[in-house]
Amino acid sequence: DALSNKIAAGEVVERPASVVKELVENSIDAGSTIIEIETEEAGLAKIRIIDNGDGIEEEDVLTAFLRHATSKIKDETDLFRIRTLGFRGEALPSIASVSRIDLKTSTGDIGTRVRVEGGKVESVEKAPGRKGTDLTMTDLFFNTPARLKYMKTIHTELGNITDVVNRLALAHPEVSFRLIHNDRKLLHTNGNGDVRQVLAAIYGMNVVKKMVPIEASSLDFRISGYAALPEITRASRNYISTMINGRFIKNYPLAKAIQDGYHTLLPIGRYPVVLLNIEMDPLLVDVNVHPSKMEVRLSKEQELNELVSGAIRNTFKSQEL
Ligand code: ADP
Ligand code: MG
Repeated sequence: DALSNKIAAGEVVERPASVVKELVENSIDAGSTIIEIETEEAGLAKIRIIDNGDGIEEEDVLTAFLRHATSKIKDETDLFRIRTLGFRGEALPSIASVSRIDLKTSTGDIGTRVRVEGGKVESVEKAPGRKGTDLTMTDLFFNTPARLKYMKTIHTELGNITDVVNRLALAHPEVSFRLIHNDRKLLHTNGNGDVRQVLAAIYGMNVVKKMVPIEASSLDFRISGYAALPEITRASRNYISTMINGRFIKNYPLAKAIQDGYHTLLPIGRYPVVLLNIEMDPLLVDVNVHPSKMEVRLSKEQELNELVSGAIRNTFKSQEL
């Protein structure tokens, strides 16, 4: 119901960046190859996502706004081998409960347009049949003033959005992303499948030229990615990006293991630029810890961290003082 959606929204939709994350993940899950994100006022006034994915069938459109109505998990066992980014069926109803949504979607035939305001369906009509989904969200938190007051500056919120889109672009080099804020282009990746191209779009070619491939594997893990030479450092840990099975995660011990790999090569208070993907049996990772799905619980954490440190240490060993 409307109230439980609003309560769930408190967890799923913390800020504009969480809306962007959930919506873009839906576009990715729908098999899109081009995703355009337009924002105004750091997403508080408007977030529009246009994709060329599968779209939603007319008869499923209203269901998508119902809580726990995911189309991605058919039974309990699926929950333990999650391959799609979404699975809780919570995002769309949550976002819709605290904003106004204008959704146009089509599977290729005649499309559907739905408008929802504060969780209430205002209209359903036919729409043009361009395959894909075009969702415009406006007036985020218009009906939850307490949450709105809690927002940081436009600058900070926009930074969070950029972080989210950058990460999704890094995780999906095969998808072309375009991020626009108030008509200014903040990111454009070409979707050619080369992650170095995405790294260049985000960090600049000068940094990418100084990143080397990292690869290693053990019985349970296969890691791959790029690590910048120790001469390239940053003042924050934000430039250490880690993914598990293509999903961005936050895991302090893992970031620490990466730093440990550089050992004495980094000055105190300086951090490396690294992108690492870890492939592992989905059964060994619990992504269902928090609705935002960023935090994970790992089995065999020790083995993984040693593998990661070792791979980086071996790469840069010759440079050690
Ligand atoms: P979840 O992603 O966890 O399944 P959501 O609330 O994010 O739940 O979305 C609900 C459903 O709406 C999805 O399962 C999917 O079927 C549909 N959907 C949402 N966005 C899109 C999109 N951009 N393209 C195609 N289908 C979508
Ligand atoms: Mg989703």
